[in-house]
This record gives sequence, structure tokens and C-alpha cells, in this order.
Amino acid sequence: MALAPATAYDLTDEQRAIIEMVHEFVDNEIIPVAEEYDAEDKFPEPIVEQMKELGLFGVTIPEEYGGMGLDLTTYAMIVEELSRGWISISGVVNTHFIGSYLLMKFGTEEQKEYFLPKMATGELRAAFSLSEPEAGSDVQSIKTTARKGDDGRWEINGQKMWVTNGLGSGVVFVLAKTDPKADPPYRGMTCFITEKEPWAEQNTGDFAGLDIPPKIKKMGYKGVESTELVYNGYRCPPERILGGEEAGLGQGFKQMMDALEVGRVNVAARGVGIAQRALELAVRYAQERKTFGKPIAQHQAIQFKLADMATKVEAARLLTRKAARMKDAGQRSDLEAGMAKLFASEAGKECVEEAFRIHGGYGYSKEYEIERLYRDAPLLLIGEGTSEIQRMVIGKKVLERNRI
Ligand SMILES: Cc1cc2nc3c(=O)[nH]c(=O)nc-3n(C[C@H](O)[C@H](O)[C@H](O)COP(=O)(O)OP(=O)(O)OC[C@H]3O[C@@H](n4cnc5c(N)ncnc54)[C@H](O)[C@@H]3O)c2cc1C
Repeated sequence: MALAPATAYDLTDEQRAIIEMVHEFVDNEIIPVAEEYDAEDKFPEPIVEQMKELGLFGVTIPEEYGGMGLDLTTYAMIVEELSRGWISISGVVNTHFIGSYLLMKFGTEEQKEYFLPKMATGELRAAFSLSEPEAGSDVQSIKTTARKGDDGRWEINGQKMWVTNGLGSGVVFVLAKTDPKADPPYRGMTCFITEKEPWAEQNTGDFAGLDIPPKIKKMGYKGVESTELVYNGYRCPPERILGGEEAGLGQGFKQMMDALEVGRVNVAARGVGIAQRALELAVRYAQERKTFGKPIAQHQAIQFKLADMATKVEAARLLTRKAARMKDAGQRSDLEAGMAKLFASEAGKECVEEAFRIHGGYGYSKEYEIERLYRDAPLLLIGEGTSEIQRMVIGKKVLERNRI
């Protein structure tokens, strides 16, 4: 199916070819089966295998490491399409994308050469772990520690929470306190690249000391697993500190906050995708369903809902692309990424709710796709920083940039 003009208005030829390919993949391979995987909360292995073949795990990884070497803007467009199909699919690539960003920006040459080629093909998938049972928004309050042993390796102890791809990943970028007395605490935090056996609940051998409890049961965002990670005496070699021990020790908080900036563009793109799908479903249903002798699309109250939804989708898309383009141009985009994430995730939730209302009683039935979207959309308000946290970031940056 051709791309809608609103999606395609400003694409380069290369972007158009890729986005058309992903759009078709989503229509043919994801949307028809998403309901089945959602109902069973089953990992969509065949879809993930096809994504590997399409190169979607290496979109932003440079060609010299086997990836496509594309920019954040193109990646955001791809994520928008994947999320239009099912946000869980974008969840499979999201933490992987953040992990590859961390390696590309801060990794040593050895770390890049070791991890990126396997990540580009999707053979190795990455997870990203900041949150803990008692720490989410307030990242500086994490309790997980890493202590250097006599043999030079770092022993990690602590419990992590809400790790997307926590079980299936082969590598986790994890934040731990290496200097618990540091003041402010962020100066004593380090990012460790912890390898593990994909899909193993208990790791052994070199990876012993990392256990993964049963996956967390969720209201939506099914198929992709969210887990705790229990580090209990896991021993990490010093060369697996992001950036190397000398340069990377104590830099973890800054590195991971940097990665969250691109992560926010990524979540914004997911908001655009789910909002776009809600609009598509609502526009179709409104022309099929009749009340009082005419399609409900002919009632002005319904047209106004469609108008507001279409406007929000477009605004969210523009904010997202602007934030991505600024980052690609090497400009500071923390404010813009925060705005895009806030607006697009809220637009996602609002458009899904309006589409749900337009479906009347049928929106409440599992027979209709909108029911799944209604359970999926709220996640976007939480992940990569809640809406309240985005407002804090935006408010601070607005004042910083406009001091009197
Ligand atoms: C499905 C799912 C997948 C996830 N995947 C990952 C992952 O892969 N890796 C990872 O590290 N984390 C992940 N997370 C965790 C997510 O990032 C956190 O849930 C999020 O940052 C919020 O933290 P919290 O849940 O601890 O809420 P809290 O920080 O406890 O916040 C609770 C409420 O208080 C508000 N609040 C907090 N502080 C303030 C303040 N200063 N001012 C005003 N309001 C405030 C929040 O906005 C929220 O409404 C995931 C979460 C979910 C649900």
C-alpha cells in the first residue's frame, strides 16, 4: 500500500524506499498476526527473524560494522511504521537501538568491533537497564553496586526492574554505583556491558550471578518480555565498562542520560505510530457504521473528533522529525526531544481513546484492534521518562535558554 501523503511529504528517495518497504512489511506481516501474539503474550519470533533479514536491527549502526549507517530521522520513521503495526515490535528494537547508540558514541574500538557486527544482524540483542524496584524517575537513587575485586573484575550486586528484552537479550547495558559515597551520586555511577545467555533464566560459567525471574504480567505491550534482573555476584571484566575502565568509570549516568535523549525521540515516534493507526481505524469505522440513517462520519461530532486526531498526529510527527533532525545535525535537542516525547505519547493515548469512543461498544470487544491499542498506548506515557518528568526537563531547558 502506498504511503499516506502526510507520512511521505518530505522523504528523500532512500527514505521513501525504506519506509515503503517497512510499511508493506507491517501491513502484511505484523497487523494480521498481532492480535494472536497479544492474546497469548508470545514472543513474535517469526516477525523478529524477518526483521533481521530486512536489516532492521542495524539501521543506525555504521556500514563498517555491518549496519545500514542511517540517521536518527530515518530510524524514527521506521519506528513510527513498526508501532503503527504493534508497539511491542518497536519494543524489541528500542533497547537494542539505545545499546548500539551507547557503543557507537562511548564504546572503545574493541567494544565496537566485538559487539556491533553481531548487533547489526540481530544475532545479539541488547537491553538497557536503569530502573529498580525503588527507583524509576529518580535514577540517582539506584542501589545496585559494583565493587572491584582483587582479580580486577567488578562484582555487581543488585536488583533491576522493568527490563525490556530482559530474558531474550544477550547483552545488558546496566547502570551501577561504583562509588556509593559520591556527592552528587551521579558522579559515582558506571555503565557496565554485561553479557548473558539469551533466554536463560539462570546464567552459568562466565555469566554466573545473573538470574532472570519470570516475566512481569502486564495490561498491554505483550509479546516483548519485561523482567527483573537479579545480579548476585556477577563478575564483569574491566574491559566491559562502557568506554573502558579509565575513561568510563564514573561516567555511566551521563552516558545513559545522553542515550535517553535519542530514546525519547524513539518513544515519540512510537506515539506517532500508534496515533496514526488509531486514526486509520477510526476513519474506516466511522464510514462503515451507521446511526440515525447515515454513516457516523457524517455526524459533525464525529468529524470533529477525526479532525482533532488528524491534527494531533501531524503535529506529533513534525515535532518528532524536528527533534531527530536536530540531533542528526549535531545540535542540542534535549528540549526538542522532551517536547516530542511529551506531545506524541499524550497524542497517542488521546487518539486511541477517541478511536475507542468512535467504535462505540465494539471498541470494548477483543474482536476489534482498537481494544489492543487501548491497552498498549499508556506505556508510552511512562517509558523513557513520564510526562511529568518530560515537563520538568522542558521547563528547566526553557528557563535555561531564556535567562534574563
Ligand atoms: C513496560 C515497561 C517497560 C520498561 N522498560 C524499561 C527498560 O527497558 N529499562 C529501564 O531501565 N526501565 C524500563 N521501564 C521503567 C520506566 O522507565 C519507569 O517505570 C519510569 O521511568 C517511571 O518510574 P517509576 O515506575 O519508578 O515511577 P516513579 O518514579 O515512582 O513515579 C511515580 C509517579 O510520580 C511522578 N513523579 C516522580 N517524580 C516526580 C517529580 N519530581 N515531580 C512530579 N512528579 C513526579 C511520576 O511521573 C509518576 O507519575 C519500563 C517500564 C514499563 C512499564
